[in-house]
Amino acid sequence: MQRLAKKWQRAGTRIGLVPTMGYLHAGHLSLVQRARQAIGQRGVVVVSIYVNPTQFGPQEDFSRYPRDLKRDLKLCRDAGVDVVFTPGDGEMYPRWGEAPDEPAREDARPTSGFSTYVVEEKLSQGMEGAARPTHFRGVTTVVAKLFNLIQPEVAMFGQKDFQQAAIIKRMVADLNFPVRIVVAPTRREPDGLAMSSRNKYLVGDLRRQATILWCAIQMARATVKKSRTFPAVKLTAAVKKLVACEPDARLDYVEFFEPDTLAPVAEVRRGTQMALAVFVGRTRLVDNAQL
Ligand code: AMP
Repeated sequence: MQRLAKKWQRAGTRIGLVPTMGYLHAGHLSLVQRARQAIGQRGVVVVSIYVNPTQFGPQEDFSRYPRDLKRDLKLCRDAGVDVVFTPGDGEMYPRWGEAPDEPAREDARPTSGFSTYVVEEKLSQGMEGAARPTHFRGVTTVVAKLFNLIQPEVAMFGQKDFQQAAIIKRMVADLNFPVRIVVAPTRREPDGLAMSSRNKYLVGDLRRQATILWCAIQMARATVKKSRTFPAVKLTAAVKKLVACEPDARLDYVEFFEPDTLAPVAEVRRGTQMALAVFVGRTRLVDNAQL
């Protein structure tokens, strides 16, 4: 991949990257479209598909995360993607001294031979970082690796993962990666549910209950519209109560914060960013929006 990227660069070909974990949906494809717009018809759009083990906690859904490479490749072809990069664990996290295609020992985690990580230390403390302690270390590390492998001029991220996009922007600024980060709006289903590969887990009535995240955002928006400022603690309590109305939904967190610094606010007003994580059955969903 790196050899190919260097060849493109020598030829003056512009490179746009869309990093994903696959099981693609219209949200991912909107990033592909924006990558194409950013680099032009003569540039190359690279989609990476890699379910990155280091960003999953031990109790999380790494092994059952939905995968369908054949379907993803067709979607990419139809969307005009030039290259799909689908590395394996042995390539991304080599076990030194072993051949990359050698099967891992039963007890070995895919990353047992890997020991260099990229860690952002401020923006990754709260919200997803608090709920999933090693998550962002895995994200920044794999994205740094993808930047080094694919050497893109521009890389696209979704607003759906607001904190992640903020952390990647900070990493790129702090470590001088020669990459422009573009953040694209969240694509939603007609009933407001943010598109996500994990929506596949929502069977039966859980799919309906999952709209509670969008309902909570709408409620917060209506509140801010009505009273110009509103105490964050009171709005937090209201969201908690709303989520509790659904039998299988459990609020993990809701936060109100400044979009630029991620600093929590005491008073919610127009322009405040809201983010929440909710378990619907066993599935953990996240969403966010500016109020
Ligand atoms: P994932 O495959 O979930 O790791 O997501 C890959 C990229 O797509 C990330 O930058 C996400 O923020 C972005 N993304 C995921 N869902 C959506 C969505 N509904 N709308 C826009 N972008 C999204």
